[in-house]
Amino acid sequence: MKTSTFQDVQFTNGYEFTQGTGYTLPEYPFVTPPELTQNKTLRHAVVIVGGGITGLTLACALANLGIKAVLLDEDNTVGVKGASSRGICYTQKSLEIFHKLGIFDRIAKKGIQWSVGRTFAGSDEVYNLDLKQQSNFSLSEQPAFINIQQFYIEGFLVEQIQKLGHVDLRWQSRVKAFKQNTNFATLTVETPEGTYDIQADHVIDASGSHTPFHAWTGVTMESKKGDDRWCIADVKFDTRPPTERHTWIEAPFNENRAVWQHLMADDVWRIDYQMEPNADAAYISREDVVRERLERQFGKDVKVDIVWVGPYAYKSQCLNTLRMGRVFFIGDTAKIVNPFGARGGNTGVADADNLAWKLAAVLRGHADEALLESYNDERHEAAKENVKVTRRTARFLRPADGIERAFRKATISLAKQYPFARSLVNTGRMAVANTYRGSRICGDNGGTSVQNVRFQWRKGKPGCLNDLIQWADGRLLILVFGPQPKAALKRLQELSVSGLPVRCVQVLAKGQVAQAREHLLDTQHHLQNACGTVPASGWALIRPDGYLADTGKGVNGALIGAVATSLGL
Ligand SMILES: Cc1cc2nc3c(=O)[nH]c(=O)nc-3n(C[C@H](O)[C@H](O)[C@H](O)COP(=O)(O)OP(=O)(O)OC[C@H]3O[C@@H](n4cnc5c(N)ncnc54)[C@H](O)[C@@H]3O)c2cc1C
Repeated sequence: MKTSTFQDVQFTNGYEFTQGTGYTLPEYPFVTPPELTQNKTLRHAVVIVGGGITGLTLACALANLGIKAVLLDEDNTVGVKGASSRGICYTQKSLEIFHKLGIFDRIAKKGIQWSVGRTFAGSDEVYNLDLKQQSNFSLSEQPAFINIQQFYIEGFLVEQIQKLGHVDLRWQSRVKAFKQNTNFATLTVETPEGTYDIQADHVIDASGSHTPFHAWTGVTMESKKGDDRWCIADVKFDTRPPTERHTWIEAPFNENRAVWQHLMADDVWRIDYQMEPNADAAYISREDVVRERLERQFGKDVKVDIVWVGPYAYKSQCLNTLRMGRVFFIGDTAKIVNPFGARGGNTGVADADNLAWKLAAVLRGHADEALLESYNDERHEAAKENVKVTRRTARFLRPADGIERAFRKATISLAKQYPFARSLVNTGRMAVANTYRGSRICGDNGGTSVQNVRFQWRKGKPGCLNDLIQWADGRLLILVFGPQPKAALKRLQELSVSGLPVRCVQVLAKGQVAQAREHLLDTQHHLQNACGTVPASGWALIRPDGYLADTGKGVNGALIGAVATSLGL
């Protein structure tokens, strides 16, 4: 079996450009697992089923924390068997997570950064925005968005996992049966060399929208399917449109239906065309029909190479709980969102990052098993929110006849003239880091994501929040701001050696004198501002997923309480 990576000469361009056959992707070899060589059933602390973007992010996050796991994937490559660009747009929070996992530089080098989005109706530009000008995006080390084909990220994750070790990636390993009892779970795995059983303490279902685990566990869900149909054309041009996200609510060149236009890596443009309700998939993706559609948009003289074409319908679905016994649902197995606003893959990445540090804390003995329940609290809240937001977009883009259609018509015509109506034009609310309002492990001031902002180490060397998180190595990070009374410093010192999984650092503003051994300079107050409202000489408690657990005043019982709460104690 051939093994290849994106670094191989064959894949310097990521895929071979062959019209009609899609992308050519790396192939990973099947390696006989110990269960087959030793002919016995082995027990593992964590078994991840599915090596898509979500399962691989979880595997990489565990590897980054030195936690052992087995990942089973039925395929021998990344992407959807080479068939599609699929997710293309990655948000700042995902990029911050990828930075922590060590693959951000590769993504930034390969992908396309964009911040300007323009929305059109007919031939009028209804409005435009530049995300760089928005304060919520401006402080992080990572940009607002990078566009890159999903399979590149998956491939980079595979290579990073191989580099970090700890995780056994098993390709061509399809889980075909599952059962669980109070002591462990058993999975039956089918491979080219035979079938074997594997036991697990924790099973993470990352096997995507067709997961068999829903039926195996009996989890219940709420699901909706509509008649909206789309067709993707991934294309290359001999001219270069501007590197901006263009969305047409009503495109005159697409029979007044919606169109999205985005640039991805390798100079490939992703054009999504909304089709007639219930359109015939075979017809709308026929090459001559696609070419005619492209010609209507770009003109006869522009030479277009078709990289890949794919029709799609979508549904949205949310489980009623993200945990059934030993099984945790992440990514598309937890929820499926309508494909607007880049919420599918990005929220899967966030699911993985949320679960990874909790599993690590429990397996290292830093936290009680109860901490794992907070995965459901936090990510179920996020899943419901993301399903709701993307359903609203779907209704704007494919309104029902009557009041929904009248609302959309009024909004579009008002938005051309009046700024107030622009916020009602809903071509997709871009994914953001969800806030955990109902979390049992966050305090009143916590539950928000802290941006990966910059600061300076003692001798002026630049650092960023992710450096501190890496340094904390799966422990909670306590930032104390400004001068501290002697008693507080003593308590901080005691906390550091108490055996609690915390790391403490003093954050100093300009002119302030260091008192603690571990300290840094926050001359621009970026770190302090990123933590929300921190009282003078107060503290911020940050989790390994970059979320704020709480803030408070004075190194006292409230801080100890917040540490205990964050660990599910
Ligand atoms: C047209 C389109 C556009 C999109 N655009 C975006 C976007 O811009 N940004 C974004 O964030 N998201 C986007 N998404 C959504 C995104 O692609 C999905 O949300 C994402 O792929 C989900 O990842 P996952 O890892 O949960 O599941 P999947 O990617 O489906 O991965 C599941 C994995 O499990 C494996 N598997 C399945 N069954 C088994 C089994 N029984 N045993 C072992 N292995 C198994 C499969 O081989 C696969 O590798 C888009 C989706 C579509 C369709």
